[in-house]
Amino acid sequence: MSRRIDLHCHSTASDGTLRPAELVRAGAAAGLDVMAITDHDTTGGWAEAAAARPAELRLVRGAELSCRWHGVQPGISLHLLAYLFDPDDPALAAAMLLLRADREQRGERIVDLLRADGVPITWDEVFGYAAGGSVGRPHIAQALIRAGLVSSTDEAFASDWLGARYFVPKSDLDVFEAVAAVRAAGGVAVFAHPRATKRGRVVPDELIVELADAGLFGLEADHEDHSPAERAEIRSLGERLGLAVTGSSDFHGTHKTVRLGANRTAPEMYDKIVAAATGVPVLG
Ligand code: AMP
Ligand code: FE
Ligand code: FE
Ligand code: ZN
Repeated sequence: MSRRIDLHCHSTASDGTLRPAELVRAGAAAGLDVMAITDHDTTGGWAEAAAARPAELRLVRGAELSCRWHGVQPGISLHLLAYLFDPDDPALAAAMLLLRADREQRGERIVDLLRADGVPITWDEVFGYAAGGSVGRPHIAQALIRAGLVSSTDEAFASDWLGARYFVPKSDLDVFEAVAAVRAAGGVAVFAHPRATKRGRVVPDELIVELADAGLFGLEADHEDHSPAERAEIRSLGERLGLAVTGSSDFHGTHKTVRLGANRTAPEMYDKIVAAATGVPVLG
């Protein structure tokens, strides 16, 4: 029977709603054979996920790095999935620490903007929702829902709220530096949801060609934010460039509606990723 592989999942170490231990149990319960924990800019959930891993589940330890491409003005933000890297690599660990610190400052600025317009939420409340993990806009969305101003995370991301009116950019990693740092730490870099236009501007294919030359290993094709046509485009681009192509749920618990395993990665693609990584082993 073919292995069920989901390579992009979030826990409470960032903006997911299941604790790392709950996430791996939910993965096994959903019939996954392989799951990756990929919290935004942190490895903070790795230890708990590893300790709670059901014996039948293989666990890929990873992260989703906040990056930016500066080839146009203003730069375009993008996400890089990093798998099986050494969490103690000093350069990568320092980069993630900076990203998390910036997430806090930026979160506080967004809350200040909202409060200046009379929105009754506080930074303490938002910071509390993040519970020690990477702070993200979904935590601010949670405060807006609590205050009765919106009814869902999706609504909080509309242009009236966190999508535009109260949008503050993050100070992300340069994407070429990020690819190099992931490789230097023994990891494998996969471009997350490269065609996800609902999140903002997307990068041109020429950049993906350049990133492939710079050591990018793969592209996430099957993702809920991609249409069938976009998935096909990414698959053929990956084939043309000799890149691995993945699929995943980008599960965030109740901050999103997608279910674990909703999109999956082909076993041969997963095997290529594992074979290319030298940072830490797959657990299980
Ligand atoms: P941030 O990382 O703080 O910029 O917040 C973006 C995160 O919010 C992404 O990781 C998304 O997974 C999550 N998110 C949840 N709902 C939405 C939505 N409707 N639009 C964009 N991002 C969303
Ligand atoms: Fe997220
Ligand atoms: Fe992402
Ligand atoms: Zn994600």
